[in-house]
Amino acid sequence: MEKLPLIAYFSMEIGLESHIPTYAGGLGILAGDTLRSAADLGVPMVGVTLVHRQGYFRQELDGAGNQREHPDSWQPQDTLEPLPQRIQLTIEGRQVLVRAWIYQIEGLGGHRVPVFLLDTALPENSPYDQSLTDHLYGGDAYYRLCQEVVLGMGGMALLKELFPENRLIFHLNEGHSALLTLSLLEARLAEVQQEEATEELVEAVRRQCVFTTHTPVPAGHDQFSWQLVEQVLGPKRAHLLLKTHCCVNGNLNMTYLALRFARYINGVAMRHGEISTGMFPGYPVDAITNGVHAVTWTSPPFAALYDRRIPEWRRDNFYLRYALGISLHEIAQAHAQAKEELLAEVERRTGLRLSEQTLTIGFARRATTYKRPDLLFADLERLKDIARRVGKLQVLYGGKAHPKDEGGKEMIRRVFQAAQALRDSVPVIYLENYDMELARLLCAGVDLWLNTPLRPQEASGTSGMKAALNGVPSLSILDGWWVEGHIEHVTGWAIGDEVGVEGDYAAEAASLYDKLERLVLPLYYGKPEAYVKVRRSAIALNGSFFNTQRMVSQYVANAYFPAREARANANLHQ
Ligand SMILES: *Cc1c(COP(=O)(O)O)cnc(C)c1O
Repeated sequence: MEKLPLIAYFSMEIGLESHIPTYAGGLGILAGDTLRSAADLGVPMVGVTLVHRQGYFRQELDGAGNQREHPDSWQPQDTLEPLPQRIQLTIEGRQVLVRAWIYQIEGLGGHRVPVFLLDTALPENSPYDQSLTDHLYGGDAYYRLCQEVVLGMGGMALLKELFPENRLIFHLNEGHSALLTLSLLEARLAEVQQEEATEELVEAVRRQCVFTTHTPVPAGHDQFSWQLVEQVLGPKRAHLLLKTHCCVNGNLNMTYLALRFARYINGVAMRHGEISTGMFPGYPVDAITNGVHAVTWTSPPFAALYDRRIPEWRRDNFYLRYALGISLHEIAQAHAQAKEELLAEVERRTGLRLSEQTLTIGFARRATTYKRPDLLFADLERLKDIARRVGKLQVLYGGKAHPKDEGGKEMIRRVFQAAQALRDSVPVIYLENYDMELARLLCAGVDLWLNTPLRPQEASGTSGMKAALNGVPSLSILDGWWVEGHIEHVTGWAIGDEVGVEGDYAAEAASLYDKLERLVLPLYYGKPEAYVKVRRSAIALNGSFFNTQRMVSQYVANAYFPAREARANANLHQ
């Protein structure tokens, strides 16, 4: 029997550990969770990313909510092993040397998934080229395109050296690594000693590539002017790309490059698959809904509870379904402990002590306009009135805005302004420097996870899945994963309804207040047992499904080693 191919998972960001700052948000966390589950499941996989020596950034907020960004540097040599290989790339005619560090992810059964972090900080390179692997999502278009050459083409060259004998399948997590397809095409051309790509050669590359798209807004897709592409890649490579029809409106569009060269394409939730199908006519877009790595995102109190009651849950997350058999008392206790740990950390960081008795809402994710962190504050008088008449509430926020995202920065300031206006009735705290460690505490320790994106822009969203694993129900707009995970009053609550495409700000805010006033607060304070039942259903129904163990299994079945491919091969050999 032929050996299974090796899956090479490429991602511009990968969240390996909280203190290794090689991630910015959901995309990187998903990448890390994917590789962790692949290791647990024994899937033959390797990860490829950049070392990002200066990280994304460390966020500092002043009293008015103005964000200041500081480098978040780390020293790969302190924790990682360097590989001896040196890869040579040509960028704008210059020779650029690339090396890699290796980070090993070990699965529950001992299977290892190595992650290669590419690095250009070598003395042979010019100071500028040494900086190419410093800043995640930093710099100008020129810097970004150079980084994408290092990721896609450098990563490909490294894998060829490390695994010369293996059949490889490439999984492009978002379009940043799409230039790897150019390397694959060049290798095919070299084999047949041709200069011009034929449909047959393109097809041969396609058979090796899987592409996951994450952005339901055209403006979110990475693109570079043709002039820049010719400058960085040189005329010969630019010509080859031009011939493959990945040029849209005079730009090289990395999404179209990936679409063109992938034999399997998917969005990250059912709704997102539909939206993407509409965006990319002519390309079949499937859907595999995201998940989170259950063991990583389950808080210690809940992990201890599951270990006692459903010990198989670590190895097989489907067993979380049987959380239905755990007593409400034990669920309530585990959550109370997670809440206490969160509130203690909030006090340690801010000096402010919140009450364990009060319904605590959490909202944390990248700060950007479409996520609308200010929807909760659309009508401050109404919110105050609800807190006074129906039941107290307090709110914890977190999230970084990209340094160039002025709209996102304004969102943070608005939360600060609302916090000021509400200070005597609803405590609102914005925690600095949202990262994996804080996410772990927040998603587990609050009582209600809030998400208010502008539909249909939330491709999936994953923090609500982390919350569900910890018995924290969501109150969310019906977009992304919540369309699938929401059962009203059972796993949480919906804000607004599903009809229409664009969100109606006023109507959605009214629905948010209405749900808090009529359903959430009365349940929390009036029928605490029933609230714990919602916690338990969130674990059993959503924790058991919205995890990366199920997700990676779906990639295996549908994208990496699809049964239909096996059948086609079987027919060929008859
Ligand atoms: C999970 C996570 C995210 C993604 O949150 P969404 O709900 O998908 O927006 C972003 N940042 C960090 C640090 C996370 O842990």
